[in-house]
Amino acid sequence: MSIMVPSTTPALITPGRQALDSALHQLDRAAAHLGLDDGLRTMLATPRRSLTVSVPVRREDGSLDVVQGFRVQHNISRGPAKGGIRFHPATDIHEVTALAMWMTWKCALVGIPYGGAKGGVAVDPSQFTTRELERLTRRYVNEILPLIGPEKDIPAPDVGTDEQTMAWIMDTYSVNAGYSVPGVVTGKPMTLGGSLGRGGATSRGVQIATLAALGRSPEGVTVAVQGFGKVGALTAQYLSDAGCKVVAVSDITGAVHDARGLDIAALRAHAAESGGVHGFAQADAMAHEDLFELDVDVLVPAALEGVITEANAPRIRARLIVEGANGPTTPEADEILAANGTTVVPDILANAGGVIVSYLEWVQNLQACSWSSGDIELKLRELMLSAFDEVKALAAARGLTLRQAAHVIGVGRVAEAHRMRGLYP
Ligand code: GLU
Repeated sequence: MSIMVPSTTPALITPGRQALDSALHQLDRAAAHLGLDDGLRTMLATPRRSLTVSVPVRREDGSLDVVQGFRVQHNISRGPAKGGIRFHPATDIHEVTALAMWMTWKCALVGIPYGGAKGGVAVDPSQFTTRELERLTRRYVNEILPLIGPEKDIPAPDVGTDEQTMAWIMDTYSVNAGYSVPGVVTGKPMTLGGSLGRGGATSRGVQIATLAALGRSPEGVTVAVQGFGKVGALTAQYLSDAGCKVVAVSDITGAVHDARGLDIAALRAHAAESGGVHGFAQADAMAHEDLFELDVDVLVPAALEGVITEANAPRIRARLIVEGANGPTTPEADEILAANGTTVVPDILANAGGVIVSYLEWVQNLQACSWSSGDIELKLRELMLSAFDEVKALAAARGLTLRQAAHVIGVGRVAEAHRMRGLYP
């Protein structure tokens, strides 16, 4: 018996599919600007390797769940594939492919010798116990084992994963190898070869990018931060430490606002205790959506993709948007923001601090040495600021937005690597 699908059924456009469409749109723009031929453009639009796995997980009550996992290596022309692993219920192969593609351009843009990859498991980690998460992580890693390795593909934390997850990955890989392989994953705990400064690296990078883009004293500059997880909370902290006034933050539990500036340390303590920003007594509650439309100088989206869209972009009043998240702004919103004169420091530049310090961690692992936090901070600043200056200069010279310029540089470097290497056979 066949199942009839009515012809009027609309194709299902998942958020992941939208993210991939955005990534492909950005690539097309950059490829056109660079004059890349169709063949090369198609190579860059297509992931090099893409693996979907089924991950069976034994639950505490004895039942068995089977969840989907992914690992996509978008490009490996400039070095091993590199990119985080996300645990999120809405993740799918399209989202992971988009995120892998952004990793390729990001690594090329900041000049670190990696290609781009991403992994994902379609689960809500809050619905799993720690032991279940450990079993899930180890089985997922076992399924993608042929792809990863310190010379091949190096995972790291992303949404829903942390240094404990990285420790399990390092252990699972090492037990299979028969010896310890710290360089297979970054964002590890310090005791397993993690690097000083990795935990706050993405946020530190967002702070560096924000201050560079402001080009004036941060004293009293007002900021709203969407997302109060690993990236958002420390970004709020570092911007507030630098003298900015962080007036609003949000997470999945709610949003809080105080025009006099939030006490970020107190808010972080409250969120750690209660599981989110909701109920923070020293500020007013506000609606999630209103955060984007606040009259602030700087807006930092630091959660998921596709939150700045054609629906809210016309009402955004911030003059500067710094993307702590990957892919928070849709191409339609980008055009509206550009027309309104809003500066957007794009994700592949603004949030590159994480992968930069991942690279420094990996180099330390390969050399079996450890560097001081001063060394890390210096190198992070140097790589962030030189990429920032290059993007800004190209944007000014060619009349591009910062995002277009960042993509032209990133895509251009990968295209150049392809040209130099030639095509085998
Ligand atoms: N998940 C982070 C990102 O999106 C870090 C990736 C890494 O360190 O490899 O950039």
